[in-house]
Amino acid sequence: MRPEDPTTPEALRERYRLERDKRLRPEGADQYLDPTGPFAHFLEDPWVERIERDPVHDEVTVALIGGGFAGLVAGARLREAGVEDLRIIDSAGGVGGVWYWNRYPGAMCDTAAMVYLPLLEETGHMPSAKYVGGAEILDHARRIAERYDLCDNALFSTEVTSIRWEDHRDRWLISTDRGDRVAARFVVMGTGPLNRPKLPGIPGIETFGGKCFHTSRWDWGYTGGDPSGAPMVGLADKRVGIIGTGATAVQVVPHLARDAAELFVFQRTPSSIDVRGNHPIDADRFARLEPGWQQEWLLNFATLQTGGFAEEDLVEDGWTDIAQRIRDRVVQLASELQGSGEQFGPALITRAYEESDDEKMNEIRARVDDLVEDPGTAAALKPWYRQLCKRPCFHDEYLQAYNRANVTLVDTDGAGVERIDRTGVTAAGRHHDLDCLVLASGFEVNISPRARYETVGCGGTTLEQHWADGMRSLHGTHTHGFPNLFLMGLSQGANLVSNVTHNYTEAASRVAAVVSHALDSGATRVEVTSEAEQAWVDQLDVEGAGFIGNAECTPGYYNNEGRPAGRRERLNAARYPAGPVAFFNAMHRWRTEGGFEGLEFT
Ligand code: NDP
Repeated sequence: MRPEDPTTPEALRERYRLERDKRLRPEGADQYLDPTGPFAHFLEDPWVERIERDPVHDEVTVALIGGGFAGLVAGARLREAGVEDLRIIDSAGGVGGVWYWNRYPGAMCDTAAMVYLPLLEETGHMPSAKYVGGAEILDHARRIAERYDLCDNALFSTEVTSIRWEDHRDRWLISTDRGDRVAARFVVMGTGPLNRPKLPGIPGIETFGGKCFHTSRWDWGYTGGDPSGAPMVGLADKRVGIIGTGATAVQVVPHLARDAAELFVFQRTPSSIDVRGNHPIDADRFARLEPGWQQEWLLNFATLQTGGFAEEDLVEDGWTDIAQRIRDRVVQLASELQGSGEQFGPALITRAYEESDDEKMNEIRARVDDLVEDPGTAAALKPWYRQLCKRPCFHDEYLQAYNRANVTLVDTDGAGVERIDRTGVTAAGRHHDLDCLVLASGFEVNISPRARYETVGCGGTTLEQHWADGMRSLHGTHTHGFPNLFLMGLSQGANLVSNVTHNYTEAASRVAAVVSHALDSGATRVEVTSEAEQAWVDQLDVEGAGFIGNAECTPGYYNNEGRPAGRRERLNAARYPAGPVAFFNAMHRWRTEGGFEGLEFT
């Protein structure tokens, strides 16, 4: 029996606590399996055939590790700054990063295309809709690569195995799994926060006898159909299971529901599903945009999404709605303070946050009741946590998929799938025979730009050693003892997760400015001083500056899977305390007026 829906804020808080406690696992993030050894095939590239080639032994001015949007925008800005000799290296068979890999049915970005797609003005591209699908995003990545000629010299289907600083000649030596030895004056690391699939650590997962793949390696050959939405005819007679109900599964489920003979969705924690409201871009309005519009939209979105004020909400979506509700409630409560004896401070901000969040989450739960016909299924699909405890989702067909006769929600009430065997999956005490099992179990999360290859800096110190007590950097970009290395990450910078590419376009301008200055001034080495790095880390090292969700949240990667974050975890996920817009403004001054304070050019 499910408990009654709470009717008071206290009862709601208690329900949140109970639901969270069900989901806490002592093993935290270690509950997941890394796709190595017997699971290595889960990583294989379904999109290109590996072609053998001779190793490359040469030198470039800048090597860009990663051909996703981080590497692409850095490459674009470096080209604009006149750097000709660039090379992208990526384990994928082409550019696009997460959008290269994730071609599952329904893939779409939840951040509005006008701000998510980088360099729209530079490439002259008008997005087709407010939110665009994965294929259009991948095309845009290719468009940037073409516009800036970033593929000619690239090494694709090539995994970097180590990068090593050679002090005697001020070069990085990059080694790869193809036997390449590429020397580079500068290295830009754009390896992304969510690039490696993780598998659920469910007993027996290796024994499943049917078809099994991770969403980021969709097997179109098996399912039939294509990313543009053509029916997956291969599933017409199949019993399909999907493990996971995160942002990916929410997009996949309506398509599987439409095409599979039967679909079983194995749920551990329901996602919050807000309205999507997609629509085509108005071409007339787009044509009237003034030069410089994208930067204006980016700052407008970042401002409103992080609690600031602006005359107009240009993007107007679920992200800006959440933040503006909280902000407006803070303002309202503050205006009611006079004469009440209460002080403006953290307690009032927490109250404003909770009240506006309760209102929002009540709407989200009411939407489940409105859209899902079976009351038991609707009850199981309601999320009992604050909206920003887990990644908010936005979809207009997901919840309705459960009204179909061929779709079963297998709710495990926080426990997860019990077992997998040769013929199927056991969950919530029942075995379900399956032909196909889709793993929508997410990705290894590296908010700090830590790559899997070894990075060896001055004096043989590795990045792992330098960051043993947590990430250390200046602006999230430079790290002491690792000259001429640029990190393109989120952590220790703006850490704007609602629009990941914005972090990259800003970092790209800094990288291009620093590299040009080094080349113009004849410096062969650029390095952040130890003092500047320490000062930056000290500024970020404040309680609460790390994860988005706190330990009271239901577990997920937003709150370190519910484990209290120590200093190390906090630094790895730290953000500039004054917020993204203040960070971007400070960085603009730093690169245009500040003489690159904290860096030494020698
Ligand atoms: P997530 O990590 O968000 O979701 C993984 C899912 O697998 C969760 O529902 C998790 O449950 C479930 N799971 C894990 N282990 C088990 C188990 N043993 N039994 C049952 N269920 C299990 O991965 P996604 O790929 O969905 O999303 C990752 C991120 O990628 C998103 O947060 C987002 O940042 C990004 N993304 C963005 C999209 C967009 O812009 N539209 C689309 C897709 C992804 P539990 O919640 O209980 O841990």
